[in-house]
Formats: sequence, structure tokens, C-alpha cells
Amino acid sequence: MKFRIKLETEFGWGETRSHEICTVERQTLDASSEDLGLCMAEAKSLLKEVQCALLQDQIEEIREIERVCRFCGTYLPVHDRRQRRIDTLFGRVTVDVPRVRMCMCGLPGFPTLRVARSPLTRLLPDNATPELRRLQAELGARHSFREAARLLNELTPCAKQNHVTIRNRLATIADDLSSSELIVATEANQRSESPEITVFLDSAYVRSRPEYQRRNFEVIVGSI
Ligand SMILES: [Zn+2]
Repeated sequence: MKFRIKLETEFGWGETRSHEICTVERQTLDASSEDLGLCMAEAKSLLKEVQCALLQDQIEEIREIERVCRFCGTYLPVHDRRQRRIDTLFGRVTVDVPRVRMCMCGLPGFPTLRVARSPLTRLLPDNATPELRRLQAELGARHSFREAARLLNELTPCAKQNHVTIRNRLATIADDLSSSELIVATEANQRSESPEITVFLDSAYVRSRPEYQRRNFEVIVGSI
């Protein structure tokens, strides 16, 4: 028995496009419990393919919309094309993103100035989706960095994680939070009461030698 999974995109301008995502084959004669439904590896691969097709088409539509100046309606030329890597919870996707020349209709004094911009710079400044960033930070805060990386690698098709990936993400998010206006305002109110404190915690299991004592213990290291 065969299942063919397809994705159909309908662009805002009416064009449709079909993507062949994957084919799943199953035994029906002498089927076992493992033949029922999707297994984890297939689900990860399926999600990755769907994410890839979806993002490629989404970027294409955003790119076309960004090429029309919202003030004068001019269809703007492409300055150059660059490949951008987007890290998502469902895989790392490389997309072709053009940089569009900015319209000078609002700047009559600078008619020869040519500045290009990419739509992804505004949408994803650090090339990672908010959902992936949130899960990396949440798992990194609840578990050791290695355990957080292991959980993400085990359960999602995201690009391979390790303890350094998680630690760096958590540090970036902490920096983003501390630089946000809300925190700055709160800090300004509290500055006279308490100094700024940064805390990092990580932990690891140390396993005993089996012939000696059958005990493991967890080491938690903190830096303030
Ligand atoms: Zn314009």
C-alpha cells in the first residue's frame, strides 16, 4: 500500500503550485504494529519537507509584495540575490532571497541613491523562527544544555543541536530581553535598589564505575 503526500500552494495572485512531499509505503499482508501510521523518522522527514516547500513559496509571495512601492506603486528592481539560512523547529531551510532596491519617490533630493533591503532582515533578524528560539530557551532553562539539545534532536527535525547551540541561544535571548524597552524602564526604576545580576546554570550527570558503587550524581554549576 502506498500513500503519496502532496502540498498545493495557492498564491495571492491566483497561481497554484504543487509539491510532491513524500511517499509512504506500508505492508498490509502480515502487517505488524510498526506498520501502522507514521513512525518518528517519517514524521520528521515529512515535517521538514512541508516546512521547506511552505517557506520557499511564502518567501516568494513576500518578495513580490515587497517589490511594489507602497507609496507610488512602482515595481522595484532586484539589486542582487542572496541565499539565507532559516532555522526553524522543523528543519533548516535555505531560501533564495532577493534584495530589492528601495524606491526614492520619498527622497527627491537623492535620486541616484540606491539602497537595497531584504524582506527577511525585517522578519527574522537572527535567522531563526520565534518558536524555535522559545523552545531552545525554555528547554535550556528547565534542563541542562546537553539534555535540552538531546530532547530537541530526539523529537523535532530541527538542525542538529548541541549544548553550545542552546547556551548561545539562551544568552542571545537574555541579551534581547535586557535590551528591550520594558526591561530598560524597569531597570531604571530599580537601579537604586539592586545592581544588575546575570546568572548561568548548567548541569551534567556523572556516572559511577559499575564495579565500584552503583550510584550516579548530578553536578550543577552556576556562574553569577
Ligand atoms: Zn515609490
